[in-house]
Amino acid sequence: MSLLKELDQRDAATIGEELHHFASDLYPICRSITGDGMRRTLAMIQDRITLQMFEEPTGTPVFDWTVPKEWNIRDAYIARSGGKRLVDFQQCNLHVMNYSVPVHATMPLGELRPHLFTIPEHPDWIPYRTSYYKEDWGFCLAHNQMLALEDGNYEVRIDSTLKDGHLTYGECYLPGRSTDEVLISCHACHPSLANDNLSGLAVATFLAQLLFGRDLRYSYRFLFIPGTIGAITWLARNCEAAGRIRHGLVLTCVGDPDGFHYKKSRRGNAEIDRAAAHVLGHCGESAEILEFSPYGYDERQYCSPGFNLAVGCLMRSVWGSFPEYHTSADNLDFIRPLQLAGSLRVCAAIVDVLENNRRYCSLNPCCEPQLGRRNLYRSTDGDTIGREINTRLWVLNFSDGEHSLLDIAERSGLPFSAISEAAELLCENGLLAAIPGDDGGGEQLGRPIAMRVPHTCHAERNEVSAVRSPAKADSSSLPSSE
Ligand SMILES: [Zn+2]
Repeated sequence: MSLLKELDQRDAATIGEELHHFASDLYPICRSITGDGMRRTLAMIQDRITLQMFEEPTGTPVFDWTVPKEWNIRDAYIARSGGKRLVDFQQCNLHVMNYSVPVHATMPLGELRPHLFTIPEHPDWIPYRTSYYKEDWGFCLAHNQMLALEDGNYEVRIDSTLKDGHLTYGECYLPGRSTDEVLISCHACHPSLANDNLSGLAVATFLAQLLFGRDLRYSYRFLFIPGTIGAITWLARNCEAAGRIRHGLVLTCVGDPDGFHYKKSRRGNAEIDRAAAHVLGHCGESAEILEFSPYGYDERQYCSPGFNLAVGCLMRSVWGSFPEYHTSADNLDFIRPLQLAGSLRVCAAIVDVLENNRRYCSLNPCCEPQLGRRNLYRSTDGDTIGREINTRLWVLNFSDGEHSLLDIAERSGLPFSAISEAAELLCENGLLAAIPGDDGGGEQLGRPIAMRVPHTCHAERNEVSAVRSPAKADSSSLPSSE
């Protein structure tokens, strides 16, 4: 049964509540690109799916980057000298600029002010700020909160550590009949931000649950990684696996009330681009297809020219385009159960296309076969001429060995799910035969693109496979922190 059909047999509201509940559980954790927040997050995903954690040590060169020091934080506040806390990390983890170096000092407001960040246009919201690659410290607070600070001395404390450690990421690999892979990637490095981060994590986790144990055409690799440096690190350590990625999706911002946006891969006409556009065109919600641009989420790394993978990005609201983006207003109220469930549904439908798209040959190409005597000129709903028959005729006519089911779906304007079901029925009735070995991908029948694998990748391959062996993986999987 298709994933979509299976999902549609369940109550969307209940699925949405479960997704929202999972995001709510993850919400309070102070995540960053490294550190215990990431480990705790991965451990909670591990409670639901088989996830292997990997750690790369600080200082590891990854292409043009270096794995940074590991950051952890226990507490932070601004208080009146000897008085009560006015800005308190325990109330909201966005209050501390992510990756702030430790500080404990008393200083006048004038000295503190350059370290304070607010959003004057939204005076009650707390901004989300980071300083990963420049050692600095700061506090983020509501603009109104800052205006209320009186002149005088303040005690400032950030109880953090920034020292050699590891970058941590998680992988869930679901083997299919082919070693060719579908990549689902989401960043897991933002602290209490719901749409930009947790919505993608929740939908990806549930999609992995849905795929688990199924007879799959492709192998699926789910990555839960820190943004940018995580994707770069994964690609640097897994050049060989990257070469097996045939289709991929970056998932983020999939819980807000807006319609869908799909950003195409750099190739622009990859099967994933067509599958996503087709599914969104039939999903019943508003949807817009965006051309590739070299800025955004981790598709930037997967689509860098040395890899040029067929990886697009599925979002509802586009990063940076909604006022709540990177603020405390991107909270659990901003993501909605039904929107989360709708996003999971779209992902399932896209996977259905990838899993079932292939070419067939009509076994009666000379004129229409007589459907009536095979009891196929009748719709299940009783109509003699209905959409089901129309769909069968489309599949029969275009199953000429040239057109894939996705080609037929696009050309007919009929949903892929209906086209795929018709093909199955026609096969059962001896009217259609799948082309052996065909994967429906047209020009993509061969390997994606010969990648120019940098020399360093080869050297690292053995280490990577060593990490993947179960025994080694256990010893490298996650230490108590420092
Ligand atoms: Zn972000």
